[in-house]
Amino acid sequence: MAERHTCDILVLGGGSAAFEAAIAAKTAGADKVVMLEKAPEPEFGGNARFSHTGFRFVHSGAAEIRSFVPQIDEATFSRMHIPPYTRDDFLADLNRVTQGRIDPGLAAAFVDHSNAAVHWMKDIGVPWEPEKTIKVGDKLYFEPGINIHPIGGGLGMLLRLREIALKHGVEIRYDSRVRALHGNERHLEGVRVSAPHGEYDFYARSIICCAGGFQASPEMRARYLGENSDLVRVRGSRHNTGEVLRMMIDLGARTAGHWRGAHMTPIDSAAPPFETPAMEGGRGNSMNRYDYTWGITVNTLGQRFYDEGEAKHSYTYAKTGRAVLAQPGGAAFQLYDDTGINLFRHGRDYPATVVEASSIAELATKIGIEPAVLVQSVEEFNAACRKDIPMDPRSLDGKCTVGVTPKKSNWAEPLVKPPFRAYPVTTGVTFTFGGLAIDANAQVLNTSFQPIRGLYASGDVVGLFFHNYPSCTGQTRNAVFSYLAGRNAAALRN
Ligand SMILES: Cc1cc2nc3c(=O)[nH]c(=O)nc-3n(C[C@H](O)[C@H](O)[C@H](O)COP(=O)(O)OP(=O)(O)OC[C@H]3O[C@@H](n4cnc5c(N)ncnc54)[C@H](O)[C@@H]3O)c2cc1C
Repeated sequence: MAERHTCDILVLGGGSAAFEAAIAAKTAGADKVVMLEKAPEPEFGGNARFSHTGFRFVHSGAAEIRSFVPQIDEATFSRMHIPPYTRDDFLADLNRVTQGRIDPGLAAAFVDHSNAAVHWMKDIGVPWEPEKTIKVGDKLYFEPGINIHPIGGGLGMLLRLREIALKHGVEIRYDSRVRALHGNERHLEGVRVSAPHGEYDFYARSIICCAGGFQASPEMRARYLGENSDLVRVRGSRHNTGEVLRMMIDLGARTAGHWRGAHMTPIDSAAPPFETPAMEGGRGNSMNRYDYTWGITVNTLGQRFYDEGEAKHSYTYAKTGRAVLAQPGGAAFQLYDDTGINLFRHGRDYPATVVEASSIAELATKIGIEPAVLVQSVEEFNAACRKDIPMDPRSLDGKCTVGVTPKKSNWAEPLVKPPFRAYPVTTGVTFTFGGLAIDANAQVLNTSFQPIRGLYASGDVVGLFFHNYPSCTGQTRNAVFSYLAGRNAAALRN
């Protein structure tokens, strides 16, 4: 018979959602809180290890953001343009990109708690720094609503959260894979753990599931995400293979979110099969290719296939990977001239696989596209760019194309100034949108729409998004629902 362990609150997973839930539970008075992390210690932390972890949340503008970044000198801070990001802004963004499908109750709970949840992270001891900015003249502009991220990016945040959790007495067990559940669709009592020394059972008063999405399982991707999705690269942790989600569904948990949908982005074609490297100092992921708004993208036949300027990249990047996947070979090239290259968010010398040439025909030859076809595509695009509207990278400038398909809706600047560059891209999956159904208290529901007693969930394992995703929403969602899950789990008395 397997050994029997018990605790007050058991947290399944070892990513940011799990740490936040464990800290929230412990600081709300829970007695023994244990985290079960499948990954060995050197690989702990799930997806955030590979990210700079920007946070989108409702705030009242510069004065409030100032309290997060006291280390910035006054002269620099005064150059930062930080308008408020309101409840209506956030809800409108969520509703627009999910095509009105996001659950309205959950969306409201998420948005309404977003400010308090990010302040809570600051108050427990997570330090912050400003996001990337676009410099225009003397002013520094941000993407609306995305102003700060933790110092040191995702890894910095995870190390800090771990320190805080340990300080509060949370126990972390690495290399501890949840491989079965004990309970039914009314009450989850415990789990079976596979650990290096053998298996044991772990029972708890409440269980908080933060075991991530299923994006690192090619088998589950093929089953749910559509043609060729098993072939995409995985941007984050190799450990997110969806088995806990599957067990929860077998137990009788209700599902939610877009089961054919996933956050898929254009990434460097040289990306490894999983775990694309983050840049040092929390500056983002070295394989991201999000500057497509400043140029055009063509498939391997030399044809454009989507509106590169539909909106700011933060509202389109999470669906653009899906558009690339639909192209022959799941491959494409982002093309820029010198003007576009100079608008790159990380500067023109951003590390990347790149091909450079002094003419479009030469570039075509270098990347294996028929030169006559690529030259024609670029000339058609150039001729279609409206010349009567000035280019403004700060906002949706309306400088669109006319008479070319697909249209480019903003920032349509002709590619005329050498050198020309091609960045080969493919599709990277970040996380999956289908997951567990929760209520606004972060309790997991069963297929009778009743809460499963003792079971809460937060993070990518929750089904929330459809079609697309506004950037920097995942981490805030983690903070909101992990805080609620931790507090409510601690308050639950059997
Ligand atoms: C490259 C990249 C960039 C990103 N950038 C941002 C950003 O800037 N802003 C933002 O908001 N979001 C960003 N995201 C998304 C965000 O990181 C994720 O949504 C978030 O990390 C999910 O947190 P989580 O804790 O739910 O899941 P994860 O961090 O994936 O953690 C899941 C945990 O569960 C564990 N686990 C899995 N199976 C088991 C099992 N059987 N037993 C025990 N444990 C198990 C895993 O080992 C892991 O520790 C990015 C993601 C990536 C990959």
